[in-house]
Amino acid sequence: MRKSIQAVRGMHDLLPEEARLLRHVEETAREVLEGYGYEEIRLPVVERTELFRRTLGEATDIVEKEMYTFDDHGESLSLRPEGTAGCVRAAIEHGLCFRQVRRLWYRGPMFRHERPQKGRYRQFHQVGAEAFGLAGPELDAELILLTVRLWRRLGLDPERDLELQLNTLGTPEERAAYRERLVAYLERRREELDPDSLRRLRTNPLRILDSKHPAMRPVIEAAPRLLDHLGEASRERFRRLCALLDLAGVPHRVAPCLVRGLDYYTHTVFEWVTHRLGAQGTVCAGGRYDGLVGQLGGHETPAAGFALGLERVAALLQELGRVPEAAVPHAFLVMAGEAALEAGLAWGERLREACPWLRLVQGGEGSLRAQLRRADRSGARYALILGEEEAARGTVSLKPLREELPQRSWERDLVLERLAREGEGAWEALAAGAPGAGA
Ligand code: ATP
Ligand code: MG
Repeated sequence: MRKSIQAVRGMHDLLPEEARLLRHVEETAREVLEGYGYEEIRLPVVERTELFRRTLGEATDIVEKEMYTFDDHGESLSLRPEGTAGCVRAAIEHGLCFRQVRRLWYRGPMFRHERPQKGRYRQFHQVGAEAFGLAGPELDAELILLTVRLWRRLGLDPERDLELQLNTLGTPEERAAYRERLVAYLERRREELDPDSLRRLRTNPLRILDSKHPAMRPVIEAAPRLLDHLGEASRERFRRLCALLDLAGVPHRVAPCLVRGLDYYTHTVFEWVTHRLGAQGTVCAGGRYDGLVGQLGGHETPAAGFALGLERVAALLQELGRVPEAAVPHAFLVMAGEAALEAGLAWGERLREACPWLRLVQGGEGSLRAQLRRADRSGARYALILGEEEAARGTVSLKPLREELPQRSWERDLVLERLAREGEGAWEALAAGAPGAGA
């Protein structure tokens, strides 16, 4: 026997049940986003490495160690680790954010070379939203309210199942000044820093606030707070956002150590975190990035956005049992014998033509008994049976598979007509032997 080939580590297959759940999250997000005027944009999976370097920052986890980068005839390309960079690139390239308000959303796989574990994969999926051209905290509030609506539509309680963590990073100048104070403080407590934090002290000191290392906790707790070092305008802006959220009844917790991993954020940053998924508890993250469009060569344009990790939202729904039911087939077409097969295949196609909503699974192979067993396993509610007799007479037998009801024989044309006219409700009427309205 030949050795079988397995999937690459961290790149998992989404089996039908998981695919269904992910699609449910994605489709619900699409509905909510479209309801707020966001338009879908489809972006390439591969971009120039330079784009991510310039956008995310050299000293970020993603650019330092998580990118799938390869050489393409002398040009360095990367699989996208996130969607904002490509979305902003496309918006600038096609003039989508030039002197106008534009709301966009995207979906698709992202790639990061990190250590795979529950809720952390090397290929995962996001739905993201980006809005351009609005500078006020009203937009930040809109993005958050939109996510609240998404949680509700998915059957999640934004208060009990999740927590909204909120912080502000102020302007780049304020952040730079704070950075110096923070470094000075951390230098004084240098002996207490773990190796990772020591490294970040030079490259990306704000990220130290985000450290999960238990030994770092007292150091972080006593650190100067960014919020206390912002100018009045930035503080007022943040108060206004909090007030808007209060008005809308959205509970939130100000998290002074929430800095997010990426360099491009300004002012608002937020994360939706659940305690039900262990360490990988952040299901959605976002914030404002007013400098990014300019940094990538576009006209200075205020912007904000967020991204959801679909696998994590799906895992949360699974954990809470909020999983939508699978769409079972309406019927399974059993065909035994050559004549039945010929008549049945043609009739099945006419049925599908007349009823676009129909979910009809084709049988035809094996004995009548074997096909009925398969019909049962398919989850279908009814078997439509064509044997020799039905084939010759122009009839079909309807056998309810989930109820104790007798099998009934109907004219095939009549069944087609009633399903086409009465829709899904015709099944029960036919199974009960009820004559149609026109009969
Ligand atoms: P984390 O702190 O968990 O590494 P992050 O800050 O790197 O997350 P973002 O870049 O903000 O993540 O991505 C947005 C969302 O995408 C995250 O909140 C998470 O839900 C999801 N996500 C990020 N990385 C992964 C991954 N490797 N596998 C699955 N989902 C992920
Ligand atoms: Mg990460």
